[in-house]
Amino acid sequence: MKLSAHEIEHRQAAFLELLRDKGLKVTQQRLVIFRAMQESHGHLTAEQVHDAVQADNPSLSLSTVYATLETLVQIGALAEITMDDGRKLFDRTTSAHHHFVDLDSGTVSDLEDSEAIRLDLKALARKGYVIEKARVTVYGRARRH
Ligand SMILES: [Zn+2]
Repeated sequence: MKLSAHEIEHRQAAFLELLRDKGLKVTQQRLVIFRAMQESHGHLTAEQVHDAVQADNPSLSLSTVYATLETLVQIGALAEITMDDGRKLFDRTTSAHHHFVDLDSGTVSDLEDSEAIRLDLKALARKGYVIEKARVTVYGRARRH
């Protein structure tokens, strides 16, 4: 899902504040990479982020992009997910959410709240566990006509 220009500006302002809170410098590469994530469909590999910023920032290497993404994950500006096929994706949505994978295109999207899966985790609670994270991935294909 694409974000509106207004939403992207809002997120960027919050990101600048987060960098300052964490005592990190506001660098061009951090801004460019954060923005590329917000302007994307939401879930990208480091290579895809690198491709997205190449045209305007030819000096940004893949290893710099990767290191910057990892920093942004550490401060909570992005999330990181590993798919069953081994792909490591960076996710611009950091709150707990579930995913849908289109098996034909490999595209990963967030399941909206209305479609969210309600998990009944009482059995685990009874066993004495405190749930920290529950993430479901749904796989499917577009119906053929
Ligand atoms: Zn997601």
